[in-house]
Amino acid sequence: MMNGAQYKESLKKLKPEIHCNGRIITDVVDDPMTKPHVNSAAMTYELAFDPEYKDLMVVNSSLTGKPINRFTHLHQSTEDLINKVKMLRMIAQKTGTCFQRCVGFDAMNATFIVTHKVDKECGTNYHQRFIDYMKYVQENDLMVAGSMTDPKGDRSKKPGQQVDPDLFVHIVEKRDDGIVVRGAKAHQTGMVNSHEMLILPTTNLGADDKDYAVACAIPVDAPGVLHIFGRQTNDDRRLQGDIDTGNSEYAIVGGETLTVLNDVFVPWERVFMCGEYQYAQEYVEAFASYHRQNYGGCKVGVADVIIGATASMAEYNGVPNASHIKDKIIEMIHLAETMYNCSIACSCEGRKTEAGNYYVNTLLANTAKLNCTRTMYEISRLAHDIAGGFIATLPYEADLKDPKIGAYINKYFAANPNVSTEDRFRMARLLENMTGGTALAESMHGAGSPQAMRVMLLRETNLESKKALAKRLAKIKEAPVKKA
Ligand code: SF4
Ligand code: FE
Repeated sequence: MMNGAQYKESLKKLKPEIHCNGRIITDVVDDPMTKPHVNSAAMTYELAFDPEYKDLMVVNSSLTGKPINRFTHLHQSTEDLINKVKMLRMIAQKTGTCFQRCVGFDAMNATFIVTHKVDKECGTNYHQRFIDYMKYVQENDLMVAGSMTDPKGDRSKKPGQQVDPDLFVHIVEKRDDGIVVRGAKAHQTGMVNSHEMLILPTTNLGADDKDYAVACAIPVDAPGVLHIFGRQTNDDRRLQGDIDTGNSEYAIVGGETLTVLNDVFVPWERVFMCGEYQYAQEYVEAFASYHRQNYGGCKVGVADVIIGATASMAEYNGVPNASHIKDKIIEMIHLAETMYNCSIACSCEGRKTEAGNYYVNTLLANTAKLNCTRTMYEISRLAHDIAGGFIATLPYEADLKDPKIGAYINKYFAANPNVSTEDRFRMARLLENMTGGTALAESMHGAGSPQAMRVMLLRETNLESKKALAKRLAKIKEAPVKKA
């Protein structure tokens, strides 16, 4: 296993092509735009060496028996699924943001399930290949970006019907030694500071979309790969100072990219699906359900920090005991723990798959994430309510630190006499960072947009059996079907 420093060293050996705001980022570890994201992901490595968290972070590999970082593990029990949620909450409490490594974790568990099924029904040999790849990931403690989301183009059209065929990743050539893929993956969390990406399909596919049924692993710096780094709310404050950034050590969400695949060669040993379009939907659902399980873990850890910051702001403002403040804090706790409940529940109700790893209860996992698309907004709304409007109007950090202007700011932004104005600024900026713009949009659309969860909820619910329950109590007999 690698620790945080070794992870950063390992990134320095890679040479991904990263474009950001008109320039090239050559060193993700030290560049101010990517550094906080690297720090956050490094936490997933560092905590594996902390005796306090060893039980959550380190497990024995089901493939080799050796100790590995949980982020490279194939779940072996419902306890593993529960520990995943607990681990994510714990890490998010320390970073206050996304640490990115779960996407690959989920993609690997989903690929393990689907390759097993495809082999069994189609006589292919993807599963053993994937096991070999997993051993490579575990032995080297790699960070893998789970790469599902395609740009998708015209949403009313399937991949093969798009005007531009590259709007979904597809196979453009099959060779003796491998395949060549073209297209792009969008919103790629943690991509620039991962070692590898694991490509999988993004939607259900038909026979016309065979070339879009592709799963494969590609190093982030493979020839033909380029990354375009996305903007985040207030990201250029990283170039200016510390307080105004809010969470200068770890930034906001995952540092997402648009990753372009310009005819990238993939050797056969890294290809895990090649044309089996019938399994695309199941693959997407497996990945998405694993990832939706997470949101009652990581987002609850984020909410824990927001609640702590809000309660601190109430103290800093001098009103910690006002009854309406207490009520609102209780409401925030209730919302956060409700998200956690769902993720623990979908883990407890998980089951063993034919492939041998454990899978979440999909109905409950989708409920967990759907809750999150609302509750993180409500938690943030209550945080703004309690903290006060000044989190939206504070002056610049540079003016706070200016000897002349700073004196006015200190005088007129003072509140609770036991708290410095600078600390009041720091807490307000942290809240601003964690409760607005990019952070909220990620709560809504990360792991899929709400409608995707609603579709799953309806599919996974037996509505007819619910109708039958009601009819029995109401003593309604089914009318016999009339013959024509
Ligand atoms: Fe992991 Fe949460 Fe980030 Fe998704 S949003 S990668 S689940 S920390
Ligand atoms: Fe996410």
